[in-house]
Amino acid sequence: MLADVVAEIETLYDPAWAESWDAVGLVCGDPTQPVRKILFAVDPVAAVVDEALEYGADLVVTHHPLYLRGTTSVAATTFKGRVIHRLIRNDVALYTAHTNADVADPGVSDALARAVGLPGELRPLQPSADDPRRGLGRVGTLPSPVPLREFAERAAAGLPRTAGPLRVAGDPERPVVTVAVSGGAGDSLLGAARASGADVFLTADLRHHPASEFVEAEGGPALIDASHWATEWPWLADAAERLTSALAAKGINVEARVSRIVTDAWTSTTP
Ligand SMILES: [Zn+2]
Repeated sequence: MLADVVAEIETLYDPAWAESWDAVGLVCGDPTQPVRKILFAVDPVAAVVDEALEYGADLVVTHHPLYLRGTTSVAATTFKGRVIHRLIRNDVALYTAHTNADVADPGVSDALARAVGLPGELRPLQPSADDPRRGLGRVGTLPSPVPLREFAERAAAGLPRTAGPLRVAGDPERPVVTVAVSGGAGDSLLGAARASGADVFLTADLRHHPASEFVEAEGGPALIDASHWATEWPWLADAAERLTSALAAKGINVEARVSRIVTDAWTSTTP
């Protein structure tokens, strides 16, 4: 039942690890309801609910919270209320693992690091105060140095396709061997990326001024800005695999699917 699945999710991604501003955990669902099929997705949006209903999911696990800032109404007068209504009407639970999945070991940025071609040991870019084995972002090394443009091409090939390309700041020929990555918006980790000694920092949602000032300063890493959704999507398969294995070890067999619907906010670009 749902309570058993939630217990396993929270062993992998302890809600206590989440940031104080975050909203993680069970959003809707009855702990006693049966769970046979689980859909993993980045965003709790209408298209993902469509997929959950078509798949026959009993539970949707998303990375992003539906109600991050709280609410006083779940009326179906907003898209969020309609998401909740459709889920509850169809006995589908919704669970969020957000910043607690970011800092987990392994977590969101481990999956991102693997996707962009970092095969070896990884360390947190910004270790958690209570346990330095966990933390935000990851730093790893490539098997051999490659020019920045080649690393960017490999990263693009390893990430799921979205409307936009990767954006690169820095000399395309500069050699890259140490790589820092962080899934989702990585602005707050620019200082940690510089201190890490990485040759390049790959993240999402970078803004002009912080990025410009970062690359103007001597001796720092190059930057690669990817789609927010694409940097977090690789984690879904990892989480699905870990959860289904942990449940199977307890004799609970569930089926999991990773949503391939691109829910990045940016849906097209000009030619
Ligand atoms: Zn995110």
